[in-house]
Amino acid sequence: MRYLVLSDIHGNLEALEAVLRAAAAQQYERVLVLGDLVGYGPDPNAVVERVRGLEPAGVIRGNHDKAAAGVEDTADFNAVARVAAQWTAQVLTPENREYLAGLPAGPQLVNGLVEICHGSPVDEDRYIFSEREASRALQASRRRACFFGHTHVALAARLLEPMRVQVEMPEGRPEFEIAVRAEGKTLINPGSVGQPRDSDARAAYALADIEGGWVRLCRVAYPIQAVQGKILAAGLPSVLAHRLAIGR
Ligand code: ZN
Repeated sequence: MRYLVLSDIHGNLEALEAVLRAAAAQQYERVLVLGDLVGYGPDPNAVVERVRGLEPAGVIRGNHDKAAAGVEDTADFNAVARVAAQWTAQVLTPENREYLAGLPAGPQLVNGLVEICHGSPVDEDRYIFSEREASRALQASRRRACFFGHTHVALAARLLEPMRVQVEMPEGRPEFEIAVRAEGKTLINPGSVGQPRDSDARAAYALADIEGGWVRLCRVAYPIQAVQGKILAAGLPSVLAHRLAIGR
């Protein structure tokens, strides 16, 4: 099975459309969505509807989905994220709010080879930024490949021995292939579709064939200025427009 893996779309419709166009040319069978469909971006309804139309083989909630749908409060959010979550909650249609509220928590097992989560298989809201956290996640994961998001940084990590992790990052390359070995477990972040934070402003996604032993981390350019214009027109904090251009 060849999957298209999407995470942290964050209401950025232009980035999502660019990814879907690029991925269609690369051919995939089913879609996995790792949460944070909304929050920050100006098109939460269109993004939710586009994702629903893809009929994902697996889709889970992110912390921004929970906040926008009223499942959880925004006590853990910074001021900008809170303002954006409140704006998103106001504009969501009742149908889309209901869809987001009904999304399952991660981790979820997709099949015998693949697991998905938003933050970490240890906890859906936990960030995997350190080797220590990656090591804990790898030990907790139950499948050969575990996809996660939340940090908006594309990377792959493998457990070499307890507490020793090997990390691979694409570092600006348009495509970066990771070998997923049958022995051991691999943790993969496809990066963020709608708000990359690894200094590469292009939309990030992954293609994965775990039976075939590979995951490809991909990037595609999209019309950032159009999204920036919508963010400002919506009255969302201007920092949310600026950061898209620098991928931070
Ligand atoms: Zn996110």
